[in-house]
Amino acid sequence: MRIAIIGGGIAGLAAAYELEKARAAGAAVEYTLYEERPRLGGSLASEIVNGAVLECGPDSFLTEKPAAAELCRELGLGGELLPSNDAARKTYIVVRNRLVALPDGLMFLVPTKLAPTALTRLFSVRTKARMGLELLHPPRAGSGDEPVAALVERHFGQEAVDRLADPLLSGIYGGDATQLSAQTVLPRLVEMERKYGSLTRGMLAAHKKMREMAKNSTGPKREAPPIFTALRGGMSQLVHAIVARLDAGSLRAATPVKAVRKSADGWSVEARGVREEYDALIMAAPAWAAGALLAPVDAALGGELGGIPYSSSITVNLIYDEAKIGALPEGFGFLVPAVEGRSMLACTFVHRKFLGRTPPGKAVFRAFLGGMKREALLDESDEALVATVRREMSEILSAKTFSAAAEPEHAQVSRWRRAMAQYAVGHRERMQRIAARVAELPGLRLVGNAYDGIGVPDCIRLGRQAARDLVAAGAKTPAAAL
Ligand SMILES: Cc1cc2nc3c(=O)[nH]c(=O)nc-3n(C[C@H](O)[C@H](O)[C@H](O)COP(=O)(O)OP(=O)(O)OC[C@H]3O[C@@H](n4cnc5c(N)ncnc54)[C@H](O)[C@@H]3O)c2cc1C
Repeated sequence: MRIAIIGGGIAGLAAAYELEKARAAGAAVEYTLYEERPRLGGSLASEIVNGAVLECGPDSFLTEKPAAAELCRELGLGGELLPSNDAARKTYIVVRNRLVALPDGLMFLVPTKLAPTALTRLFSVRTKARMGLELLHPPRAGSGDEPVAALVERHFGQEAVDRLADPLLSGIYGGDATQLSAQTVLPRLVEMERKYGSLTRGMLAAHKKMREMAKNSTGPKREAPPIFTALRGGMSQLVHAIVARLDAGSLRAATPVKAVRKSADGWSVEARGVREEYDALIMAAPAWAAGALLAPVDAALGGELGGIPYSSSITVNLIYDEAKIGALPEGFGFLVPAVEGRSMLACTFVHRKFLGRTPPGKAVFRAFLGGMKREALLDESDEALVATVRREMSEILSAKTFSAAAEPEHAQVSRWRRAMAQYAVGHRERMQRIAARVAELPGLRLVGNAYDGIGVPDCIRLGRQAARDLVAAGAKTPAAAL
């Protein structure tokens, strides 16, 4: 069976890795991976500068989603996995140019501890009173999807949207709480509202259940896993380790696919003026690119894929000599709500979040800019973006802690155009319509961050699963019937 993979980001690479494994195990599988850029890895890109690991794209993955760490271990990178320094975990929200720590006990945007919520400077007295009264909130009358902002506003008020939901979601999705789907992004809260009415009561009940389960479990007490896991040498280590396992002759970097056609026997893929025939196709390009390629095959599918919104973002990494900046506040960094009117969405104190990836005496800051509301920033020059980050950091952290005049030892800017899919209201129904179209196109699989999770582990899971499905189907069925 011949399989084409279009897109060499982590989803496409994970699919290729799985096909390579099947091939090595004796399955009659051949694959070709087409990637538009000269470099494989898509959004995963790291650089090592003056001994410091700089992440241009993702810096880590959520530990609770096992697919990424599992793959790393399989590839012999188990010893390279690096837990986040959770003992020092503290995140701030910028409120009128001051850093206010997220109160203790916040779970999925829901306050669960009375004293920290009552004492925090993050919310006004009015919002705090509303948070108390939320315990009496009735279940929602309707059941349709809605924006995350509407769900949070209904329970905790607009200030909780502005100072909590918006910065947390734009810091993760580069997204907009007024657009993102509550059903897809916060399914747990939607379910809790349906069951309990009050999200606080729902969260407390879930917490109680977890405590009871832990108390009743007879096994040895396990330490809580770290929230995030990174790789000591950067996320590119994962890309290099996968590529090293693949058949070099099957990889076509700097080869954009121009057209895809469905034939009676399978799929034809056209790139660099050459058309090649395959039995199956794993589409791992972003949904907007996949939609454009698949529209001539199935206009409805092309339209659905093209309708998935994407946000663009920028990362700016700055390396400093610690002696040249003041004492930073404790913690991993800060998030900037849109209502603050700044260009920055977030800033990570990299040397604090992951220990051992920055040389002693150096500080690394990773600023995140752009998102749905500030796409125009992508057209600014590197110099202008670095100057903006330095100015905003000095205003937020105070000139005593961080002076805009202090020169970074190194500055690095990466632009990510339309790289992050947005699960907008109605995403689940769109996925059902897409699945129905794909079911009519034998041999086609869609993988990547647009469908069932935007994180690196989700992309790996989907990529590997698609490859396994095709191999399994090919083993049972003649290739032409795939
Ligand atoms: C700045 C940033 C920070 C992030 N931080 C985190 C994080 O900390 N943790 C986390 O889990 N996730 C994070 N994410 C999300 C995660 O990195 C991505 O969702 C994931 O890497 C996407 O992988 P993918 O393979 O679906 O897509 P991509 O990486 O976008 O790969 C798709 C590939 O398809 C190629 N392509 C497009 N069209 C064609 C064509 N016609 N022919 C051939 N090739 C084509 C593209 O060039 C690209 O390389 C972050 C993303 C960004 C941008």
